Amino acid sequence: MKDDFYIRYKDEQTNRKMELPLEQMVKRLLALELDIVSHREALKAQAIVIRTNLVRNPHILVDRSITPMEGYRDIWGDNYDMNVERIDRAVQGTRNMLALFGGKPIDARYHILCGGSTENAEDVTDNRVTYLRRVLCDHCTGGPHWGDEKEFGMEQLEELLNIKFPDIDGDYRTEIVNFVECIEKDEHGRIRAIKIGDKRFSGRQVLELLDLNSTKFDIYPTGIRFISNGMGHGLGLCQWGANAMAEKGYSFIDILKYYYTGIDVGEVQLPSIKKPLIGKIVMIDPGHGGRDEGHKGIGLGILEKDIVLELSLGLRDNLEELGAMVRLTRDDDLFVPINERVERANSLYPDIFISIHMDYFPKSSLEGLEMFYFRRDMGSWKLGRSILDSLESRGISLRGLKEGNFYILRGINVSSLLVELGYLSNGEEELKFRDENYMKLLADGMGEGVVKYLTKSNFHSIIY
Ligand SMILES: [Zn+2]
Ligand SMILES: [Zn+2]
Repeated sequence: MKDDFYIRYKDEQTNRKMELPLEQMVKRLLALELDIVSHREALKAQAIVIRTNLVRNPHILVDRSITPMEGYRDIWGDNYDMNVERIDRAVQGTRNMLALFGGKPIDARYHILCGGSTENAEDVTDNRVTYLRRVLCDHCTGGPHWGDEKEFGMEQLEELLNIKFPDIDGDYRTEIVNFVECIEKDEHGRIRAIKIGDKRFSGRQVLELLDLNSTKFDIYPTGIRFISNGMGHGLGLCQWGANAMAEKGYSFIDILKYYYTGIDVGEVQLPSIKKPLIGKIVMIDPGHGGRDEGHKGIGLGILEKDIVLELSLGLRDNLEELGAMVRLTRDDDLFVPINERVERANSLYPDIFISIHMDYFPKSSLEGLEMFYFRRDMGSWKLGRSILDSLESRGISLRGLKEGNFYILRGINVSSLLVELGYLSNGEEELKFRDENYMKLLADGMGEGVVKYLTKSNFHSIIY
């Protein structure tokens, strides 16, 4: 891991976008995210959580203000030096370490206090995440937000929940409980569903509408009082529990493995300025090959299968130079059936897939490079735009980016493009593909477009 892995953020004073090396950012966020008097092992666990999330999504901070360490001088007063030292120790003591699942950084969710058990990801976010499973946590019992109370008037409830209570005479406070029914709890006391007045709510809806701290709540018959245990969504690491575990003698690794099911703590090589594509997988598909020659040039008789292979190899070298892992569906003059190409791509699960071809339109002067993206896939479209921009700045003749419904695009389950480099039915254009400089221009332009796309967006890369 190098220090040139930078995290972007917004500077509080100047309101400008800034960059900070990863480890320094971990320090600043650690000061922000966890009570500084926490146990050193809990601080270390949190440092790894923060680092893991930063590596997984380095651009997420762009619009968040981060207080520099100096900013804590007033807040910490006499303890400033000691606290800075505590943070340095936690960050340096876990330097380069990440929480990993299947070798990739996890979505390291955490919350302040779970209230007795953490949550399954699918109960909170609709996504099942293997390492975000419910675990019992008796470590945080009695912590802050344990037994938080909130009281609501009947009219207030009607307004906040948009419900209607039947008209009743007399004392609201003793009657209200009759209008709260059908409470469903899970085995750990979180409210799954509840009927209030004339409406049914999920526990999460009530939490959001009434601004409660947790779905672990009870309604007390003495009044309209919600008493909740815990704070936060309950996913992943429970900070209060982590601290209690540390005090009981558990190490930061024990803590992380307790809250994130099945993970490892380890290092991965990170992208850097020189190698921005580390961790990215690109699959290039040179069309045709072997007995399938593709189109044949009208003038010189050059073959589609040869040109697309040459270009693909050039593109591969460019991308590998920048740290990507590149796989070709063929790297030689071989016949590979199309379904096999699709299967190879789908078993590798690359970040992107690019199929390279050439076009032919008899008796016409059509020329230029054309690209097709898979319909409705924004990733494919953005990748195409990015490559088009880079080619345009190099003066390549372009026909644009269109929606295409090719078998190869339909079969591939990642963002994919089909590129037609040019027309072999156009003698003048055919000549260009004999020119090494032109081929280099194409490979460089496409490579630059891929890099821009892969380093800008983080939506495509990790799917568990
Ligand atoms: Zn807990
Ligand atoms: Zn073709």
